[in-house]
Amino acid sequence: MLKIQNLNKTYGNRQVLNNLTFQIQPGEIYGLLGANGAGKTTTINIICNLLKADSGDILVGDRPVSEATKSSIGIAPQENLLYKTLTCEENLKFYAQIYGLTGQKCRQQIETSLTAVNLLERAKNPIETLSGGMQRRMNIAVALVHQPKLLILDEPTTGLDIETRYEIWDLIWQLKSQGMTILLTTHLLDEAQRLCQRIGILKGGQIIAQGSLDELRKYIPAQEIITIETEQEDAAIALATQLGFTHRRYGNDLAFWLPKPLELKEILTYFEGISINSISRQSVQLEHIYLEVMRGN
Ligand code: ATP
Repeated sequence: MLKIQNLNKTYGNRQVLNNLTFQIQPGEIYGLLGANGAGKTTTINIICNLLKADSGDILVGDRPVSEATKSSIGIAPQENLLYKTLTCEENLKFYAQIYGLTGQKCRQQIETSLTAVNLLERAKNPIETLSGGMQRRMNIAVALVHQPKLLILDEPTTGLDIETRYEIWDLIWQLKSQGMTILLTTHLLDEAQRLCQRIGILKGGQIIAQGSLDELRKYIPAQEIITIETEQEDAAIALATQLGFTHRRYGNDLAFWLPKPLELKEILTYFEGISINSISRQSVQLEHIYLEVMRGN
């Protein structure tokens, strides 16, 4: 659906994209992750033809990005692109006309977009009267109004509360289930883990790790991660190191990677002599993998 090949972009003497190459398959949600300033928005702007790359190719289907293929792409940027005093319908009409839609077809597609984001009954309401979550959904409606094949969502839930975030996640799932191909950027690793079939981690202008969550799990030689709360951290680390368990700190948490899942009583036997206040276990999450990859481990 989308092929990015050897994309380079320099601002002044700062190279932001360095032979960036990745592909998005039809119907998948692809998560593009990376630190602040890694070049995610730059990549998106180049895909949407808003910015010129120094070199490289972008293919939509089998065709290079051009005015014609641009209509296959819809973007919901980080900042909502909405006119606050205009109604939902008026906003959509404005954007639909940019894509040359008029008359009955324009009215139909406005209705389809509003239905897709579950805001049809708010069609006549000015944007400024909608909640933050509804405005975010309208921002996605704008991206859908010309019926693109690829939808780009740049940090779609940043700044939203958890309930509203679930609403947007549901909407993204609905769009995927209707066959939409989606490129999503986010700093929320649980969001990427929930939504994306494949994930690419961008660093130094390149994708340094890519795949499904299961494929990315190969970056950590652990089947399970346990987090231990103890007053005897140094002793616990020394013991675990002797046993060949890697340890990591995630914020304040002291964690150990288990090379295979173990029974709780086995784990406690390993840490005999250490006074443990609490212990919790979890499978390897995207967050753990991301931190390792970003640290270059
Ligand atoms: P964030 O996660 O913070 O949104 P990002 O991954 O989207 O970051 P970009 O916005 O693409 O990163 O920026 C990549 C780098 O390019 C940053 O160092 C940024 O300061 C720089 N940059 C972006 N736009 C310009 C510009 N127009 N002129 C000069 N430098 C720029």
